[in-house]
Order: sequence, then C-alpha cells, then structure tokens
Amino acid sequence: MADFVGAVDQGTTSSRFMIFDHDGNEVAKHQLEHTQYLPKSGWVEHDPVEIWERTNVAIQNAVRAAGISASDLTAIGITNQRETTVVWDPRTGRPYYNAIVWQDTRTDRIASALEREGHGDLIRQRAGLPPATYFSGGKIKWILENVDGVREAAEQGHAIFGNTDAWVLWNLTGGPNGGIHATDVTNASRTMLMDLETLDWDEELLGIFGIPRAMLPKINPSSHAEAFGTTRTSRPLSAPVPITGVLGDQQAATVGQVCFAVGEAKNTYGTGNFLLLNTGTEAVHSRNGLITTVAYKFGDAPAVYALEGSIAVTGSAVQWLRDQLHIISNAPESERLAKTVDGSDGIYFVPAFSGLFAPYWRSDARGAIVGLARFHTNGHLARATLESMCYQSRDVVEAMEQDSGVHLDVLKVDGGVTANELCMQIQADVLGVPVSRPVVAETTALGAAYAAGLATGFWRDTDELRAHWHESRRWEPSWTEEQRADGYAGWKKAVERTYGWVD
Ligand code: ADP
Repeated sequence: MADFVGAVDQGTTSSRFMIFDHDGNEVAKHQLEHTQYLPKSGWVEHDPVEIWERTNVAIQNAVRAAGISASDLTAIGITNQRETTVVWDPRTGRPYYNAIVWQDTRTDRIASALEREGHGDLIRQRAGLPPATYFSGGKIKWILENVDGVREAAEQGHAIFGNTDAWVLWNLTGGPNGGIHATDVTNASRTMLMDLETLDWDEELLGIFGIPRAMLPKINPSSHAEAFGTTRTSRPLSAPVPITGVLGDQQAATVGQVCFAVGEAKNTYGTGNFLLLNTGTEAVHSRNGLITTVAYKFGDAPAVYALEGSIAVTGSAVQWLRDQLHIISNAPESERLAKTVDGSDGIYFVPAFSGLFAPYWRSDARGAIVGLARFHTNGHLARATLESMCYQSRDVVEAMEQDSGVHLDVLKVDGGVTANELCMQIQADVLGVPVSRPVVAETTALGAAYAAGLATGFWRDTDELRAHWHESRRWEPSWTEEQRADGYAGWKKAVERTYGWVD
C-alpha cells in the first residue's frame, strides 16, 4: 500500500497541496496565493483558471518537496472555499464568468426577493439556510441572468456549475477530456438547492431559482470508496491516483479536529470564522440565527449534521488593516501593534463589510468603528480588530448554546489567525472558557485527507483518527466576570450601530 495521502486545500486566499503520513503528520506542503478581484463595492471575484493553474503547481511542488512520486499517494482528498460559484463550458473548460466568491454581496436583491416572495421558510426548512447572498444558489441565478448566452448554454448542457471542489475535481480528472462533474454532500448543502433529508437536488428549490438541473454536479458522500474520479496521468501527477474524499473547508476542519461525537465543536479563524457543532444524524434547525449543514457523510453511513455559525469577516479585517489602511505591513504585526495598548479603551470595530452573517443575518449592515476619542491610536484599532473576531465568535457560541443546550467546556480552534497569541487570549477572556489549539494547525487539509484515507482503508475508523489529535497550546480566561459582561454589553451596542446603511 502506498504510504501517503494528499489533500488539495483550495481556500479563499490561496490553494495548497499537503501530504500526510499514516500518523496524520504533515510531510510536505506547497501553497500559492491567487488574486482577489474587487471590481465594485461588495463584489469579490477569483479567476478560476488562475486557481486551477496554482493548484496544479502546488501539487507538483509538494510532491517534489516530499521526495515521493505520485504512486506513493494512496488517495487524494479535496477541500475548498465553500459557496464560491464557477460556471464553465465542459467542452472547452472555459469559465463563462469569474468565480463569484462567498463574500460577494451583489445578489442582495435576489436574496431579499426570495424572502419578499414568501420562499424564505421553504429554503430554511428544506435547505437549512436563510436566503442570503452568501450561498451559491443566488450566485448561479445572477450568472444565468447577467452573462450573455449562459442560460441557453445551460439548457443544452454546455454550462455547468460547481464550487471550487467540483472545478478542481473536473480539471484533475481530465477537464474537457472526460473530467468528472461531481461534488459532495457538504458542498451541496451550501447552495440553497439541496434537500437536507434526501441529500439530493430539490426540484422545488431549483424551480424557485430557475436553475436547470443539467447544470448541477452529481452529489456523492464526502468519503467515497468508489472514488469521485481518478487523476489523469499527464499533469500534475504522473500516475493515476483516486480522489476519494471531498469536503467543504469548514466541514473538513471539523473532521480534522476529530469532532465526531454529538456536542463536539471547533472554531476556525481564517478569512472569516466558522464555528461548527456536531449534532449527530439529526438535522437540528436553529431558532437563534445559526444554519443547518451537513458535517460529513462517510460512505454508506448516515450523514452527520452540524449547526454552524458563519462570520463573514474576521482575518480579512486584519487584511484590511494591512492593504487598505496600511497601518501594518503583515498580519502578525497586528499582534505587535495591539500590544502597544492595554485594551481597546472603549472603542469597538464591527467589520460588517459584507453585512452581518450569523447570528444576525443583516445584509443592510456595514462596518463601523464606534466610541472614538482624540486619544485613540492605531494600537487601539488593531486591538479592537482582534477583539471583533472574539466578540463575533461569542455571539455565535451564545446562539449555539441556546439552540443545542450544549455548554462548551473548551473551544477547539484552528486557522491562520490562531497564530496570534494575543487574539487567542482575548478569545478565552471574552468567552470565559479555555481555548485549545491542536499540534496540526492545518486541520482543513487534514480533514480532507482523513475523508480520502478512510475510503481506501488507509485509516481504519474514526477512533484511529482521534488518537492523532494532540493539544499544542491552551489559553485560560483571565478577565473578571464584570469585565466580561461590560465588554460584551458594549459590543452589542456597537453591532446595532451598523444596521440600515444599505437597502
Ligand atoms: P483562508 O483559509 O480563509 O484563506 P487562513 O486560515 O489561511 O485563511 O488564514 C488567513 C487569514 O488569517 C488572513 O485573513 C490573515 O489576515 C489572517 N492572519 C494570518 N496570520 C495572522 C496573525 N498572526 N494575526 C492575525 N491575523 C492573521
């Protein structure tokens, strides 16, 4: 048996390929960023061809760095930025339009019309999601309505949709020469088009959006022994390798953090934040602004569901300090700058750049910095930025505890921002529970590798995976109850100030 499992992690800011050994240790990785196109306020696009090219190079370079050959890979998993929508021509592989990224808010009128026309409850009930710009359905509809010729092409099978998992899978398995058009249940659960119970595309939902079924990929389990497909043997890998795992990035991180039991949760701090709580084989509907999603489905076993709190802007607020305000030159500097002050001294930054997602779901909200006084500095703003990630996470934790009755004893964290020690300390302070980070920080890629390796028998079962999880660092709360209560009350007031800035 080959010794390694590979994972493509096609993220919002970069694409990487990682190689893991049997103990779940990272053997090699290569990562390449891609361009963020911001053509108008609220619009965020990626070039799918650039993403595929970078993914291709990342795979080749990681395999080279590991000093192995393609035949040493027993399987490959794919994980991806979810919801981001690509529509392409399967005859040529050419996208009809740039990928419309999950943070893009151009579909706000489509989302509000769904609610106004009375479809909101059906979408919430059947797909587990509130009508919002975030999910793929509205983005597909926008492309069908705004890009010349796509509707006709779609009706003839010449325009197909995928999130970036399906786009990478299709390219890896041959592109125009026999590429496989498929996805997994977790990605499909982010479209507003899949029935959470049947795990299939829903005719009524497709009708509401006016999306031809022929555009949509086949839905497979996340861990799939028959394989989604096999890599073609020219580029990027010189031997055929089965692709046996696909999971959206947050679901992959849930698997990578071995949250396999009901009540286990993880919070990932990347571009945005995503807290997922395993609710078992029952899809729990939220009364507090969380969404219901498929956590994973391993082979023929029943699907496992999660309650999710999605936050649009966390790490990307740090990018904003770097790229737009130029008050830091790299992300880690946010920690140094924030440490120049002892606290945010009464200011709050609510980075509602894309409206507010969970638990508020206010597409009319926009960002605000409140409580400013003459003496505030860049340091206070950096500190308020870190605090905003922690307060937004607390909003979601509160909603989750109310929905599920589960009280978190510890918060398992991962993602790029968790390198920021101050931010993690603030998180423990704001929540009043310890925060715990695992040794393998790349839980997203690891989760995709786990799904792929479980399908081929490389790993026996989830108990074996559990044994790979080790804590690397824990932060204990240090604030008094009063500090915590006062800080949070101020945050709630600040959030209200962000409402009503757009229709
Ligand atoms: P994604 O998978 O969403 O692309 P990553 O997990 O790679 O995200 O994390 C990248 C995000 O983390 C960026 O938004 C970046 O600003 C933020 N980030 C990275 N390092 C730090 C740090 N030391 N402090 C604060 N934010 C950070």
